[in-house]
Amino acid sequence: MQKTMQSDFSGFLVEHMKEALDNDEQIILFQNRRGYNPVWACEVCGWNPHCKNCDVSLTYHKNSNILKCHYCSYFTPPVGACPKCQSNRLKMIGFGTEKIEDELSIILPGVRVQRLDLDTTRQKNSYENILRDFDDRKIDILVGTQMVTKGLDFDNVSLVGILDADMMLNRPDFRAFERSYQLMSQVAGRSGRKSKRGKVVIQTYDPDHWIIRHVIEHDYMGMYKNELIERKNYFYPPYYKMINLTLKHRDPNKLDMMAADLADRMREVFGSRVLGPEFPVVKRIQNSYLKVIRLKVEKEASHKKVKKLLQKKINDFYSAPHNKSVRIIIDVDPI
Ligand SMILES: [Zn+2]
Ligand SMILES: [Zn+2]
Repeated sequence: MQKTMQSDFSGFLVEHMKEALDNDEQIILFQNRRGYNPVWACEVCGWNPHCKNCDVSLTYHKNSNILKCHYCSYFTPPVGACPKCQSNRLKMIGFGTEKIEDELSIILPGVRVQRLDLDTTRQKNSYENILRDFDDRKIDILVGTQMVTKGLDFDNVSLVGILDADMMLNRPDFRAFERSYQLMSQVAGRSGRKSKRGKVVIQTYDPDHWIIRHVIEHDYMGMYKNELIERKNYFYPPYYKMINLTLKHRDPNKLDMMAADLADRMREVFGSRVLGPEFPVVKRIQNSYLKVIRLKVEKEASHKKVKKLLQKKINDFYSAPHNKSVRIIIDVDPI
């Protein structure tokens, strides 16, 4: 555990990596990919290229040297000069598995590093080949996403590093804590199989976070009980059923008006169980703007009745001619 981090690797983790390598032991580093995509950005003014169709930064792919949108298929080569301040100091920032691989080659020169993620396992048999090479000790450090968390048992792994627990915990999703606990516990279980006792290093700015404490103490029941209290207090499943309505329209002003109209109509029957409308994390995809209205209903409520009331409100909403052009996507208990 280390509270401060100068780079992506704390001194504490580097020290333990060196120790494992000195003992001819292997290492697994876990980096949850979500939210870690490397972006191409201007060092001077912070400008970074966005997708022309979606409200997201483009992700830099080093091997193919392109900038790509992960929501639509748009891609473009990296620009050499910043269009905002004309500086030519553009570089890759972020924390993807590719960047970790690069940093390791600087921190631990000569060490054999392999990534295990969607990019390196696209080809047939590549997943199996990487795991076999790791098992045959042709790889010292395996750097991976969720793929390294499950079912991999290697005798010689003595250290597992979880590189950024905070990003997992801070995801805007009511399941983020539970999911973080699962991922961290699973990846921690990769260390020290069978004969040897392994080490797990979790990098975080918040080592006292209750989820991290439960991971360290292998306390699933404690996590479960705490999580249930939180869920109840904040009106989440399993105590409440969630229904998300996503409205889509090309004109953001019309969308605003229509979303407010629908939310008002819903409040007439559901009252304070209606939240929003608000923009989702990504508010424009393929040139359509999105707004979300959330409905949280007590688990005991009759779902048939809720469905009927909601459908009636949506029908009324659509019967107004100016609302006809919006699309509504309904998602019950969204993941
Ligand atoms: Zn700039
Ligand atoms: Zn896009």
